[in-house]
Amino acid sequence: MHELGLIVDVVELTERFAVENRIDRVKKVVLDVGELYYIIPTLMYSVYRSAVKGTRLEGSELELRVVDAAADCAVCGGEFDPLKTDGVCPCCGQSDYTVKAGKEFEIRQIEAGGA
Ligand SMILES: [Zn+2]
Repeated sequence: MHELGLIVDVVELTERFAVENRIDRVKKVVLDVGELYYIIPTLMYSVYRSAVKGTRLEGSELELRVVDAAADCAVCGGEFDPLKTDGVCPCCGQSDYTVKAGKEFEIRQIEAGGA
């Protein structure tokens, strides 16, 4: 379950950000997660709810934005989603490609306030 490690990092980073910016309460955290992380959203939410206990994020909302995977074919230059095609380029049938999206994992937004 790698969701736990990912969420622990997010909570730590956000808590540090809150302290540095004198935010007593975090209301919402928006997270961009690439499809290639293979996270299970429901698990992310439940891990988040327990991970924020006792922090400035307690009671805050987590919003996940899943970023679709995309790759550039090294042979024909076509763009495709490697998850949907098992890594095979639909234009030329080769599987030599560079991933250009889907590996994101970043905190997009932190909203202050709330109860
Ligand atoms: Zn191709």
